[in-house]
Amino acid sequence: MSTVNTLRGPVDSSQIGTTLMHEHLMVRNPELERNIEHPEYDEAAIFARARASLTSLHVDKGIDTFVDLTVLGLGRDIPTVLRLTEDVPLNIVVATGYYTAKDLPTYFHTHAPDGFVGRTLDGPDVLERMFVDDVVKGVPRTDGVRAGIIKIVTDEHGITPDLDRVYRAAARAQAETGVPISTHTNVSYANGRDQQKWFVDNGVDLGRTIIGHSGDSTDLGYLKELMDNGSFIGMDRFGMEFVLDDESRIDTLVKLIEQGYTERITISHDAGFFSINTPTSWRAKHTPNWHHHRISDHVLPELRKRGVTEDQITQIMVVNPVQALTGDVEATRAVAEKVLGTGRS
Ligand SMILES: [Zn+2]
Repeated sequence: MSTVNTLRGPVDSSQIGTTLMHEHLMVRNPELERNIEHPEYDEAAIFARARASLTSLHVDKGIDTFVDLTVLGLGRDIPTVLRLTEDVPLNIVVATGYYTAKDLPTYFHTHAPDGFVGRTLDGPDVLERMFVDDVVKGVPRTDGVRAGIIKIVTDEHGITPDLDRVYRAAARAQAETGVPISTHTNVSYANGRDQQKWFVDNGVDLGRTIIGHSGDSTDLGYLKELMDNGSFIGMDRFGMEFVLDDESRIDTLVKLIEQGYTERITISHDAGFFSINTPTSWRAKHTPNWHHHRISDHVLPELRKRGVTEDQITQIMVVNPVQALTGDVEATRAVAEKVLGTGRS
């Protein structure tokens, strides 16, 4: 597999370029929004802001690919994403998967695989079928937009029975389609460990997993353990300073680079242009640095000051995403040969 599924079709691994591996366009909840008025959802304004920002990310900052991990449970709406990104000049990778910390909606209980409590209807697991179909056939109502990555969650409840089912569907879809699994963790529970254990027990290649939100941790032992086991880690919340300040995030990243972990790290913001959960006005007041330009404008200059080389930055932002997204060692080597060691040090 040396192409990556994007909103506009498969893109060759050589064209993936500088990549933000964990982002959002909009996080919504259509049912809530139909019943509780949200004063800050102004589509025209959000679209204008998002288009200007995405265009600037590409034109001014050299970002080529933006991975939107907004899946079911976060209001995934690919037809709207298609409208929003019509004239945007970067690759958008969309995801399949399910975001829940504990339970699935009743629909998935009545439509469960054989042997599950609540199963009412015969038939295959709708969850598993959805994950696979999203990657292979395309997301419904999108004219064949195919997902390029699978997103799943562990938080304070651990891997509950419903999450175990989500994980099974993700594992089967990963094996069947070859796209990677990217996760949400909560570092106060260090539950990247639980995820890795589940993956190993169930035959998932850790090299095809990205343990997300790992950058919320400053525990080098924990982070190195996740990478030594073979996963990529996502240091993917730069700017989210109400969880951890960027100085600590940068310090941890520099130490890991110095200790030889450059080839296992991905970086991103987990930012969005609208979220029903933390509205724009709240973000502006409480977390002003949490936006999609933070890495380009602040983090990379800080890394350079601390002695991180251009090649190391390119490894993290260009080469690692190719390896993570395609799992293709040869394609990754070809990209590395092209972009590394070009004299910009
Ligand atoms: Zn996210």
